[in-house]
Amino acid sequence: MAKAVVLGGGISGLSSAYYALQEGTSSKFAKVVLLEASNRFGGWLHSTKFEDGAVFDYGPRSFRPTYVGSGLNTVELALKLGLRDDIIAVDKRDPSNVRYVYKDKKVHQMPGTILDAIRVVPPLKRRLIWTAYQDTFAAKATEDESVHSFCTRRYGKEIADIMGDAMVRGIYAGDSKKLSVRSTLSQLYNLEQQKGRTILARGPMVSMSKPILHYITNWTMWSLKEGCQQLPDTLVKHLTSPQMSAELQLNNKCTKLTFKDGAAVVTSDKGEITTDHVFSSIYAR
Ligand SMILES: Cc1cc2nc3c(=O)[nH]c(=O)nc-3n(C[C@H](O)[C@H](O)[C@H](O)COP(=O)(O)OP(=O)(O)OC[C@H]3O[C@@H](n4cnc5c(N)ncnc54)[C@H](O)[C@@H]3O)c2cc1C
Repeated sequence: MAKAVVLGGGISGLSSAYYALQEGTSSKFAKVVLLEASNRFGGWLHSTKFEDGAVFDYGPRSFRPTYVGSGLNTVELALKLGLRDDIIAVDKRDPSNVRYVYKDKKVHQMPGTILDAIRVVPPLKRRLIWTAYQDTFAAKATEDESVHSFCTRRYGKEIADIMGDAMVRGIYAGDSKKLSVRSTLSQLYNLEQQKGRTILARGPMVSMSKPILHYITNWTMWSLKEGCQQLPDTLVKHLTSPQMSAELQLNNKCTKLTFKDGAAVVTSDKGEITTDHVFSSIYAR
């Protein structure tokens, strides 16, 4: 069986290693080595629990279940890892679901009801119904673009400046004019590509077992009792168990990747590894 090296020990790298070693998959690898440059696993998922029980998340502080793709997959992963009793889910009817935006020195509640679509909801000046209309007839993009450009084209500049910008800052602490819509809001990008519109459209459901869909029916987001870092921490425990016995290396930065005679050669701070497959989850630059 083949060997694999995973670059990066954030949630992407750890989950790649987990799936590569999972029993019952046709592509199970004989050996997986994971290289992490820093002195801890988890990447952006980083939490501290204080003595009084309070949990502080430094980066991500919740997961969205969504009924397609990666959101649903993450719930399934947490359940497979035995975290069911540690999940804290937020119900659709919970008041904490209301979103606020600070604009023009005021805090504004974001629109959230059907009625809000037909009236002007400050700080927006245009009714959302026109946004849905514009989205229905906007042309499909032929290549990737920034979130801001995508939102301007499909929903108008006001939505791009206020809601798109706030959303990207809230999720990624990033700049909507710099982040790729395909990478960060892939669901919207895929809806445009597949359905030609994004607001009054539904994406294809992934084939997941029905109990999971039933389990998350009323969730809008979820986290874990010990904070988001509990997910990578639990992956590390599983990966280093005798059943999986992955080799996880901290303080070992990949510095070069070359290909020779059908194999990949990974050069890192601690030497060279020749392998059949490489899964990279490190920064693209
Ligand atoms: C402030 C903030 C808040 C966020 N909030 C949310 C949220 O609430 N919900 C949500 O779903 N998402 C949120 N996100 C996005 C989410 O954090 C990321 O999408 C996710 O953590 C990315 O995981 P990753 O494993 O791909 O990358 P990372 O977490 O960046 O992990 C990459 C790892 O690779 C290592 N590495 C880098 N270079 C090398 C190298 N050369 N060799 C070996 N290792 C290397 C790094 O040290 C790091 O550990 C937020 C992001 C930020 C910044």
